[in-house]
Amino acid sequence: MSPLIIAIDGPAASGKSTVSRKLAERLGYVHVESGAVYRALTWQLIRDGLAGAAAETIVRHLSKVTLHFFMEHGRLRFTVNAADPEPAIRSLAVQEFVSAVAAIPEARAWVNGHLRGLRRFGNLVMEGRDIGTVVFPQATFKFYLDAEPQERARRRQREQQFSSQDLTASAEVERALLRRDESDQSRPTAPLALAPGAYRIETTHLSVEDVIERILAIISSGRNVCV
Ligand code: C5P
Repeated sequence: MSPLIIAIDGPAASGKSTVSRKLAERLGYVHVESGAVYRALTWQLIRDGLAGAAAETIVRHLSKVTLHFFMEHGRLRFTVNAADPEPAIRSLAVQEFVSAVAAIPEARAWVNGHLRGLRRFGNLVMEGRDIGTVVFPQATFKFYLDAEPQERARRRQREQQFSSQDLTASAEVERALLRRDESDQSRPTAPLALAPGAYRIETTHLSVEDVIERILAIISSGRNVCV
């Protein structure tokens, strides 16, 4: 039987990472943060001195980047050219370049090949920008999480107090988020968009638990749109 896929898309800091991780735990599925793969590719490009390089240079370099995925203590992890990309992939340097890298069609095809191969680990909750539209258009359930920009900036800032001190001023956090959203929504290849048949959940005034309950209610009602 082919694995079940739950696709969760949405803009930066819409709550999709926390929701996807906890949902995967509740369902016993493998959680996949596709943004981490784009970030890891970007981090490797920076390490190889290719930050801001022309798209064709980056495309030629893809064959020199090797990802290795594995399960550890029930969590999916991966290395990039044998190095652990965490926590470096959360840095401002990576954040600045990631959307430009993610706009290159060949880089997207490269990432998508890796993402589709993750079905070998079993049922997946995969989050990103184009999971329901491009990576797994046949996903069993598709969700699109959104929240108002100020709320997303607040969430991102709260997260960063625990992980990185790179971005501290809230206005700067919000500007960086909006820049990234704009780039993710306007790129010609696989822009962030509501997938056909996806359930859109506005999370601004909802807790993580509320969002998970809504998703679980839809899943248990069996109102999946694609199978
Ligand atoms: O989800 P996260 O914010 O970590 O994603 C980082 C960046 O990776 C996004 O801003 C976007 O440019 C890119 N991305 C993408 N498609 C995905 C996941 C992430 O283009 N499925």
